[in-house]
Amino acid sequence: MAHHKPNLPTKTCPVCSRPFTWRKKWARVWDDVKYCSDACRSRRATVETHAPPDRPARGPARPR
Ligand SMILES: [Zn+2]
Repeated sequence: MAHHKPNLPTKTCPVCSRPFTWRKKWARVWDDVKYCSDACRSRRATVETHAPPDRPARGPARPR
């Protein structure tokens, strides 16, 4: 007999690109869940919050 798998919904985490499965703790917020874990969520927030370090250097700083 084949193993019976529960048919749980899955999503793909945009941070680590891994699929993750519905968990009971997400029962009420599943629609809002985007990341597989708090670690990925905070990583994403960090990426979006901090500006990229590559700002253009415009030669020597000129005095005002
Ligand atoms: Zn993730």
